[in-house]
Amino acid sequence: MHFVSTNDAAHRVPLKQAVLASLPPDNGLYLPERLPRLDAGFWDVWRDLSFQEIGYRVAQAFFGEDVPADALRAIVDDALSFDAPLVEVAAQQYVLELFHGPTLAFKDFGARFMARLMSWFTRDDERMLTVLVATSGDTGGAVAHAFHGVPAIRVVILYPRGKVSGLQEKQLTTLGGNITALEVDGSFDDCQRLVKAALLDPGLAARMPLTSANSINISRLVPQIFYYMHSARLLPPGIAPVFVVPSGNLGNLTAGLLAERLGLCVDHFVAANNRNDLLTTYLAGQAYAPRPSQPTPSSAMDVGAPSNFARLLALFENDRSAMCGRISGYSVSDDDTLAAIAEVAATHHYQLDPHAAVGWCAARQWRQRHPQAATIVLATAHPAKFPETLDRVLGPGQVAIPERLACLADKIKCAIPMAADTAAFFAWLRLLP
Ligand SMILES: *Cc1c(COP(=O)(O)O)cnc(C)c1O
Repeated sequence: MHFVSTNDAAHRVPLKQAVLASLPPDNGLYLPERLPRLDAGFWDVWRDLSFQEIGYRVAQAFFGEDVPADALRAIVDDALSFDAPLVEVAAQQYVLELFHGPTLAFKDFGARFMARLMSWFTRDDERMLTVLVATSGDTGGAVAHAFHGVPAIRVVILYPRGKVSGLQEKQLTTLGGNITALEVDGSFDDCQRLVKAALLDPGLAARMPLTSANSINISRLVPQIFYYMHSARLLPPGIAPVFVVPSGNLGNLTAGLLAERLGLCVDHFVAANNRNDLLTTYLAGQAYAPRPSQPTPSSAMDVGAPSNFARLLALFENDRSAMCGRISGYSVSDDDTLAAIAEVAATHHYQLDPHAAVGWCAARQWRQRHPQAATIVLATAHPAKFPETLDRVLGPGQVAIPERLACLADKIKCAIPMAADTAAFFAWLRLLP
């Protein structure tokens, strides 16, 4: 199967190129040239398949022409090494816990699959592939863990000194092996500038294969379809879910729509926004106008120009009313978000992180008009990742810290100091073996 740019259907590339380049040169985003559907044979048995088997069948629909079955199965099995439990918090009100991976956020699904697929594509290359990532905190951790120990690839993470949380810094700087952290004497923008300059530099490109691991890569989107399928079959037969998706760059929501195009029965999609509610206002009829992001407690959703909006438009062929027919948007205030964390803990003895709490509020609004709905809120991060907010709302020490986070405190940081200077960064890269 070939992949085409959302800006130009004539720009067609094979999967390997779409994965290793991430972005088409025309600044669009890659989508499959035709959307696959799973056949009746799959839908006859899907409820009884394992999570890994569902993942494999979905991956095969998109990538099966380009990756042999045994390799694809191994990639899926290795990427899906943790579960996604569906919890019925109250009657017909479900939460899908997507935070049981290595960095306790749903981005582990996409990042782990991408890492293994990239490794497979470069397995016969003589030279090691170097992945450059600039991070303001969370992405770097997910990408670092995803690539840790993956053969034939090394990762260089650039992070701004003193501007990521202590916990985040430990996630970036304690893995070792094929992961190297550079502590840049500058801002996140400086880190991003250095990465872009390196990717565009012909001299470096001739010397070493370089790529980036950003979140619009098509190979991060497809594995996010797996858990939509997996969770829908855990509902009682005959009930189609309303998926409530805490949204930022809209990758997760796009994956849900692809699941529906594969043939999954979905009642409706609810896009849950915080104050950064570009999609909600677009669905309400306003023009799409990117604006600077505003800080909220659900910081991973503070996005002023959602990168996957172009994919949404392409899926609905630029037809806003068609999009409204499948997606409803709600924007949720900071006060309502924090109140929902307190209320759900008190009433249902269940802890929501700030992102899932935005989803909970949006689900509640949907249920007011559709009381019979079975809502599945996608819980995108573990509450222990946001101790400041949870302690403030629930009182100190109420959230149990998983071992994976707790043990970071004892680990020793290993980072290389780097000036925010292209020449210094390039000189360091050139010295890599
Ligand atoms: C990235 C992220 C989101 C937003 O997901 P998109 O796919 O960008 O819409 C929501 N919650 C958490 C915890 C995240 O890390």
